Amino acid sequence: MNEHPKRIGILGGGFGGLYTALRLSQLPWENASQPEIVLIDKNDRFLFSPLLYELLTGELQTWEIAPPFSELLANTGVRFLQANITGIELQTKQVHLEHRPSLTCDRLVVALGGTTPLNFVPGAKEYAIPFRTLEDTYRLQEKLRVLEASDRDKIRIAIVGGGFSGVELACKLADRLGERGRLRIIERSEDILATAAEFNRQAAKQALEERGIWLDVETSVEEVGPEHLSLLYKSQSDEIAAEIVLWTAGTKASPLLDSFPFPKCDRGLIKLMPTLQIEGYEGIFAVGDIAATEEKIPATAQTAIQQADYCAWNLWASLCDRPLLPFRYNSLGEMMALGIDNATLTGLGIKLDGILAYLTRRLVYLYRLPALNHQLAVGFNWISQPLIEFLS
Ligand SMILES: Cc1cc2nc3c(=O)[nH]c(=O)nc-3n(C[C@H](O)[C@H](O)[C@H](O)COP(=O)(O)OP(=O)(O)OC[C@H]3O[C@@H](n4cnc5c(N)ncnc54)[C@H](O)[C@@H]3O)c2cc1C
Repeated sequence: MNEHPKRIGILGGGFGGLYTALRLSQLPWENASQPEIVLIDKNDRFLFSPLLYELLTGELQTWEIAPPFSELLANTGVRFLQANITGIELQTKQVHLEHRPSLTCDRLVVALGGTTPLNFVPGAKEYAIPFRTLEDTYRLQEKLRVLEASDRDKIRIAIVGGGFSGVELACKLADRLGERGRLRIIERSEDILATAAEFNRQAAKQALEERGIWLDVETSVEEVGPEHLSLLYKSQSDEIAAEIVLWTAGTKASPLLDSFPFPKCDRGLIKLMPTLQIEGYEGIFAVGDIAATEEKIPATAQTAIQQADYCAWNLWASLCDRPLLPFRYNSLGEMMALGIDNATLTGLGIKLDGILAYLTRRLVYLYRLPALNHQLAVGFNWISQPLIEFLS
């Protein structure tokens, strides 16, 4: 009698989930052990978030950075299911979905990512815009469009958080708005980009200065209003006007995690074994921003992609009775966009800024985009677009 094929359910199609699915589909399954691979996401598109800023400046288009899953997974054998995941039965590995029948799996990968917490300060939830999803970007685009079409002399934008996202966002917005833009970054600690390499921090400071972007360090936000925010600096409160408040500070694991009794670390993330299995649940793996290994590594796309390789291999090994491998993080460096045609990067012994860094960053991300057919379509567009513009 034929045994039922095993089913691997991958929850979340971001960097961790999608890249695990793609890697799994390339592994050498023997016909008898070929599992059904199901990728579940609430959205119909993958989002390459490191290039999200480029939508604001019109440097890139949505199809380039947010291709549909159906396109990426064509001819891979991976089944895509668009559904909102509402829960998991841990013992039976049954996944509950909104408006759809539940799905029982033999192996699970939890890759639900994180959210931007807006509950620390009164008014932030109502008036501040996070910058994490396509919907956030469209909301910001719409606000910018209305302000740009108005007769306002200046457009004032306050960006909360002086990390990578806050700095990259500020530079791109400053380049978009030109003379009309009045931008400021509000950072609670003593300096911006606390975890960045010194070379990148200096390049970023120079880019901010050249664009006249104001820095409020050692300053915390006390309240956000419809067109203002209250700040606290050295026990002194101040209210400043801002037509747009963008919130980039902090990452919180998916709220779904609160309902799972998985072991968690002090940052509220799922505690993993070195093999990326969840402690106490050997058939369930986790990757990306939702999970923490013993070694403290950054919550980045770079980490999630590296984990996806190990996770796929270990899923294969666990179904084919082979030994599992411990995950090893390999830091490849860091890159930052600093406005249109400008960037900085360090890694693998290289330090670059300016246009060269901008071009290198683009090439690295082209190489990192998922699925060869998408890489080719985007690469062709990047080569042909300047030619078409030049000729027309
Ligand atoms: C603006 C921005 C810029 C960034 N730039 C960089 C960078 O330059 N370099 C870098 O390395 N990292 C960068 N990052 C961080 C990087 O994007 C994350 O670390 C990475 O996306 C984590 O991958 P993940 O798979 O854990 O989560 P995600 O990629 O966020 O994927 C989670 C997926 O789960 C889905 N999901 C969530 N809840 C549910 C549910 N209930 N039901 C169904 N589906 C659900 C979501 O739709 C999403 O597709 C950036 C992040 C942002 C926001």
